[in-house]
Amino acid sequence: MEKGYSKKEAAEFKKMLLKQREIVRQDMDSIEQETSASSLKEGVGELSNMPVHLADISAESYEQEFAAELLENKGEVAADIENALRKINEGIYGLCEICGKRIKKSRLRVIPYARYCIECQKKREEEEKSSLRSGE
Ligand SMILES: [Zn+2]
Repeated sequence: MEKGYSKKEAAEFKKMLLKQREIVRQDMDSIEQETSASSLKEGVGELSNMPVHLADISAESYEQEFAAELLENKGEVAADIENALRKINEGIYGLCEICGKRIKKSRLRVIPYARYCIECQKKREEEEKSSLRSGE
């Protein structure tokens, strides 16, 4: 079993993670505000003396669906970031959660919250693709 990156080695990634956590939180806040703002609009005036346009409604719900999906993705990233920060504290940062090998620093510089090494990530994506296909 390989060792994770030490706190010292992980310091540069910790900085990136903290920064990204801040950005993700701000993104989530603004998405939430936008969605609640657009649902507020529905209840306000104007609509009463105007025929309801179906196209508008579907665009609106599409927008909300999109926002919900976006929010879910951001939530997953936020969880991965927390997970990575916890691993730095425990001294197991940078280990692939599947094969236990060290994830290359070059990969962590792009995705500091990566949970898997590039090989395992590829395998997972292929499995997901094939399970989607067989599910049809
Ligand atoms: Zn791996």
